[in-house]
Amino acid sequence: MSRDEIAPPHRSLWLESSLRDELDAPVLAGRSCVDVAIVGGGYVGLWTALRIKELEPDCRVAVLERDICGGGASGRNGGFVLSWWPKYPSLVKAFGADEALGLVRASEDAIDSIGSFCDRNGIDAHFTQAGWLWTATSAAQENSWETVVAKAETLSPGTFARLDPGEVAKRAGSSAHRAGVLERRAATVQPAALVRGMRRIALDRGVRIFEHTKVERFSRAHPLIVETSSGSIAASAIVLATNAWAIGVPELSRAIAVISSDIVATAPMPDRLAEIGWTGGECITDSKMMVCYYRTTRDGRIAFGKGGWGLVYGDRIGPSLDRDRERAALVTRELRRYYPMLADVPVTHDWCGAIDRSTDGLPVIGTIGPSAAVHFGIGWSGNGVGPSVVGGKILASLALGRKDEWSSCGLVNRRTGAFPPEPIRYLGAHVVRKAVLAKEEAEMDGRVPSPVAVRLARLAPAGLEDK
Ligand SMILES: Cc1cc2nc3c(=O)[nH]c(=O)nc-3n(C[C@H](O)[C@H](O)[C@H](O)COP(=O)(O)OP(=O)(O)OC[C@H]3O[C@@H](n4cnc5c(N)ncnc54)[C@H](O)[C@@H]3O)c2cc1C
Repeated sequence: MSRDEIAPPHRSLWLESSLRDELDAPVLAGRSCVDVAIVGGGYVGLWTALRIKELEPDCRVAVLERDICGGGASGRNGGFVLSWWPKYPSLVKAFGADEALGLVRASEDAIDSIGSFCDRNGIDAHFTQAGWLWTATSAAQENSWETVVAKAETLSPGTFARLDPGEVAKRAGSSAHRAGVLERRAATVQPAALVRGMRRIALDRGVRIFEHTKVERFSRAHPLIVETSSGSIAASAIVLATNAWAIGVPELSRAIAVISSDIVATAPMPDRLAEIGWTGGECITDSKMMVCYYRTTRDGRIAFGKGGWGLVYGDRIGPSLDRDRERAALVTRELRRYYPMLADVPVTHDWCGAIDRSTDGLPVIGTIGPSAAVHFGIGWSGNGVGPSVVGGKILASLALGRKDEWSSCGLVNRRTGAFPPEPIRYLGAHVVRKAVLAKEEAEMDGRVPSPVAVRLARLAPAGLEDK
């Protein structure tokens, strides 16, 4: 089949409204040669390409993307631009207090830098820095932020605002929110507008982009060659920025598990948002393990998502990771539960995408193969919009062979846990997910969850999305 005859995958509302008249980039054909070949045209691949061009404008960089840039998670996500403060305890465990704080600060700077990148380059990605409301929607969730917020108050006063419960409910527009804190620096974007804008700037700066170009194989030893069904590229360094699809790379297959995150969006209803009082632009999450995340849009919709409902067996990332109506109905139920007063507002869009969950929720970045020139950056675990800027800096330094603060930071080549092989991973994840759902449903209803569910839910990192 020719490229024109292949139906595009189901797209997000964001991508649907961001795809302008621009032509898709060409398919790779024949043989060529670059300095750095990047596989994957999402935020990670494109930030890496842009950073390389900033450091070494003459470097020849190619991005190879199986779909179109932004066809993956970067054009499908919730658009929450968050710091790594919620991951501070995991960062300390992995790297110690100093490095953890350095990485948190880098992730905070990343939020601001997305805003200034958009300003400088005329990208209207709806960047809105109105903060993140980290809330509790059941008694069991209350104070789940306490460790992080207390630490931030010592190390970086003013990061979080403790709001009284009435203020949380008022800002969120629903009394389903019983308590919460606001991380002031967090922002939202229209995610696909951002990734498509990055694509445009990358092209302007001389990055060669190939779309509808699936990399079938690549070598690990010199000479490094990236091969597709219609061509090949020789490179001095390769960067794998393939998010969940990295599970198909044998060296990386145990480092991540693939789960879905599912989003529904309502029809525009700015008047109704004004009625309920959610007009401040804050993005919101509850504190469930299978987190609900929601935000408003410029045209007055609610986009409401939930992570972790869909589990993928091994590397079988199929169409149910683009759209799944059954899961969308469950997400809609969650939306209606938190905003019952909007029950009459129709849901007009639903979509989903793949999450590359690592064992500890932190990214997994490093180098594989004897050439020491094949680098990868995966494991964003549902928190990659802001952190991918940091990932791009690290991967660019690795690809250029620079010895600097980024290539030597703790995230690079760290020892990480491994998920069990299939079928144990899939079966185990099913059992744990069921337990988490049972536990969290009981808590939402004010019931005491069964001890078995509580015990099994403790194994949850093996499959659930982080904030
Ligand atoms: C529904 C959803 C909601 C989310 N919400 C948030 C949020 O609100 N905030 C947040 O911080 N994070 C969120 N995330 C996570 C965030 O979107 C990701 O962490 C981030 O986009 C990762 O960027 P990436 O470039 O690694 O991945 P992607 O954007 O997925 O890019 C990887 C690309 O690689 C391509 N590819 C794969 N295999 C090949 C191959 N063999 N050859 C060529 N190309 C290949 C894919 O087509 C894809 O375009 C969400 C994710 C999803 C799915």
